[in-house]
Amino acid sequence: MDKNDIILTYGSDPVAMTRALLEAIDIESLILDKNSSIALKPNLVVAATAESGATTHPSIVREIISFLQERGYSRIKIVESAWVGDSTKEGFRVNGYEAISKTFKVPLVDVKDDDYEKLTSNGITMEVSKTILDTDFLISLPVLKGHCQTAMTCALKNMKGCLSDRSKRMFHNLGLHKPIAALNAIRCADLVIVDSLNGDLDFEEGGNPVRTDRMFAARDSVLCDSFGSQLLGFELEDIPYIQLAESMGVGFTDLSKARVIQLNEPTNDKVAHPSGEVANLARYTLPKNACSACYGNLIHALKRLDEVDRLGNLETKICIGQGYRGETDKTRIGVGVCTRGLGKSLGGCPPKAIDMIQFMKEL
Ligand code: SF4
Repeated sequence: MDKNDIILTYGSDPVAMTRALLEAIDIESLILDKNSSIALKPNLVVAATAESGATTHPSIVREIISFLQERGYSRIKIVESAWVGDSTKEGFRVNGYEAISKTFKVPLVDVKDDDYEKLTSNGITMEVSKTILDTDFLISLPVLKGHCQTAMTCALKNMKGCLSDRSKRMFHNLGLHKPIAALNAIRCADLVIVDSLNGDLDFEEGGNPVRTDRMFAARDSVLCDSFGSQLLGFELEDIPYIQLAESMGVGFTDLSKARVIQLNEPTNDKVAHPSGEVANLARYTLPKNACSACYGNLIHALKRLDEVDRLGNLETKICIGQGYRGETDKTRIGVGVCTRGLGKSLGGCPPKAIDMIQFMKEL
């Protein structure tokens, strides 16, 4: 896997998806020494299960450990800390990490109990986990989801769980963006495997999961977040820490130079039942056998329109899904190649949320 690659897979089985990604990544070419220390850094910001849209699916963690151990890597740890005020250990317990730890003999490291090293980057001094700093190969496992302060969280922001609680508080005082970029300039992930199965619409603590049945991997955290931001319908300018990280030499934002390797097609094998705020946005849609990635992108696009008070301008519901193949009703509007026969349609399979926003703004 090259530094500018993004490997993407769709499905509803995180075990099979993780294995497919790991095989495509060719991890043995990235970690040459089998004696390397490897840290897996999931997102357990709160003690909630993955179904909430907040935390990394434990099956991903389990499958990565199994895959690595099969290939002779034995020095693996799971390293994480919950946000200030929540218990990491409770997050480990709720998500079954104690069983994973026991089965695979992999230690759980709660960064809240760790030693820290005080380091300064771009004028910001912070306390970073010694375990993370001493790790040879860091695999970050963020959830792609919305965030009430930074708009989005993915690879770059997932690193915040490698700090002391005191530094986390200080990051909030400084407005998050510059410190997040500065932290990644000290230590960023060597490999990112993103859980984009059902990340939350707008809050990192979950509650409004949006099913997208998608995972992707990247080696460049900046490129990874740049790609993720488009999937959620954001412009780069909406998430300042991404370009700040680029300016600090962490990676590159230019997706035109990325090679996106798609391992399979999106699926529509399970019907999503939106609830809460997602159900509210779903009122603007007319789905018929829509793939979850496509439908999830539409929900995120509608959310972005709502944020700029443009949702009320939509005079018609948006058709989406494989059920529109062959339909030629010229009074209807749709997104995705399946709706190409309708009066107006946006191509793509699935189209990105950012393109859906532009399409709906022009209606
Ligand atoms: S365009 Fe059709 S086939 Fe492609 S992702 Fe959307 S619903 Fe699925």
